[in-house]
Amino acid sequence: MARAEKELKKDEKEQRRRTVYDSVRMQFNKAADLMNLDENLRKILSQTQNEIVVHFPVKMDNGQIEMFTGYRVQHNNVLGPYKGGLRFHPNVDIDEVRALATWMTWKSAIADIPFGGAKGGIQIDPSKYSMGELERISRRFAFALGNNIGPEYDIPAPDVNTNAQIMAWILDTYLSMVPANERQRCIHVVTGKPIESGGSLGREKATGQGVVYCIEEWARDKNFDLSKATYIVQGFGNVGSWTSKLLKPKGAKLLAVHDVTGAIYNENGIDPDELAEYVKKNKGVKGYPKATPIDLEKFFEIEADIFIPAALENQITEETAPKLKVKLIAEGANGPTTPEGDIILYKRGIDLIPDILCNSGGVIVSYFEWLQNKRSEYWELEEVDCKLKKKIIPAYRRVRDTAREFNTDRRTAAYIVAIRRLEKVYQERGIFP
Ligand code: NAD
Repeated sequence: MARAEKELKKDEKEQRRRTVYDSVRMQFNKAADLMNLDENLRKILSQTQNEIVVHFPVKMDNGQIEMFTGYRVQHNNVLGPYKGGLRFHPNVDIDEVRALATWMTWKSAIADIPFGGAKGGIQIDPSKYSMGELERISRRFAFALGNNIGPEYDIPAPDVNTNAQIMAWILDTYLSMVPANERQRCIHVVTGKPIESGGSLGREKATGQGVVYCIEEWARDKNFDLSKATYIVQGFGNVGSWTSKLLKPKGAKLLAVHDVTGAIYNENGIDPDELAEYVKKNKGVKGYPKATPIDLEKFFEIEADIFIPAALENQITEETAPKLKVKLIAEGANGPTTPEGDIILYKRGIDLIPDILCNSGGVIVSYFEWLQNKRSEYWELEEVDCKLKKKIIPAYRRVRDTAREFNTDRRTAAYIVAIRRLEKVYQERGIFP
C-alpha cells in the first residue's frame, strides 16, 4: 500500500493527534507516490533544513521583564533564499512553523520564483500588548534571529497578526546590526514593508489579488459568470478583506463572513469596503449593523458559489466538508483543509484551488519588492499587477494541466508541479560531498 494511503487509514484517535506538519507530509507523500519520486529525494524534501528557536527577554510597560519564544524554520533553499512570513498568534509552535515553512517551498516553486521556503513566528496574542510592547517584542525577536535572516539568505514578510509596521521595526533593527556602509544594500531583508521604507505598491493587496486572478481563471475554464456569483469568506484580515474588495467590481456578492469574533450574514450582500472599515475600528465583524449574526456552524451550511477560507489551518474537516454547499473553494489561508476534508471535497465534486497556488500572490509580489530594492527601482501599481498576473495564471494552468495528466486532485497536482522543479535541481547538482 502506498505511504499516503497507509497514513490515511490510521484510526480516529491517531487522526486527532495528527499535527499540521503531519498533514503536510501526507500531502507530500501522496504526490510523491503518484509521481514515483526517487526515495532519496523524498527523504531530503520530507525534512526541514534548519530550525531556529530563540528565547528572549522584553521589558513590559509595567517595568517587568517577560520571556518570549520565537521560531524560524527554513525548509529548503535550493531554488533561492529562504522566504516566508512571520506570524504572531497563540497557536504558533514549532510544528505549525515547520508546516508553513514547507508550504512556502512548494509555493515559490509553483510560482516559478527564485526563492526557497521558510516561516517564523512568536506564540503570543498580540491584542494583549501595547504598541510599545509589540515594537520591543518585534525588535528583540529580530535581534535574537541575528544573521539567521538576511537580504540574500532568508527574507521574512507579514503573516497572521503582523503587518507593514512590524516589518519596518524588523528592518530597522536588522539595519542597526550591519556595518554602516552596508545598510543601503540591505533593505530587502524583509518584504511587505511600508511604501516609504522601500515597500512595493500592490504588496498589501497582493495575496487577495492573486486569489481573485485564480478565481477568474477558474471561472473562465468553467464558463462561469462571476458577475452573478455569491461567496462566503472566513477571516477578514489582509487576505479575506482584500479578496472581497477586489471581487466587488466583478459583481460577485458577499453573503457571509466568519472571523475570530463571530459570523455575520446578509442574503442581499455585504459591502466589503464598508465591512473592512468597520473591522478596522472594531477589531472584528461582530456587531456589524448591516448583517445578522449567525451561529458558526450555520456558516458552513450557507449556499453560495464560492468559499474563501482566509483565516487559519484545519477549517475544512471531516465535520465541515460534508456541510459545504459551494462549487469552489479558493484557499486564501494556508492549510485550511485537512487530508480527510480533501477526500470529501473531491468525492463531492467541489472544485478547489489549493493554498500553495491560490495564495501565492503574496510571495510573488514580495519577490517583486525584493527585486525593486536590489535595483533601486519603484514600479507603478499597474506594472506590479500585470507582472503578478503573468506569474500566477501560468502557475494556475500548470496545476490544472498536471491534475489532468495524473488524473488527480489539484492539491496533489500542485505538489507535483513543485516537486518536479526541485527534483530537476537536485538531479543536476547532486548531493555534497
Ligand atoms: P490577518 O491577521 O490579517 O487576518 C486573520 C483573520 O483570521 C482575521 O480576520 C481573524 O479574525 C481571523 N481568524 C483568526 N482566528 C480565527 C478563527 N479561529 N476562526 C475564524 N477566523 C479567525 O492574517 P492574513 O495575513 O490575512 O492571513 C490569513 C491567512 O492567509 C493565513 O493562513 C496566512 O498564512 C495566509 N496568507 C497570508 C498572506 C499575506 O500576504 N498576508 C500570504 C499568503 C497566505
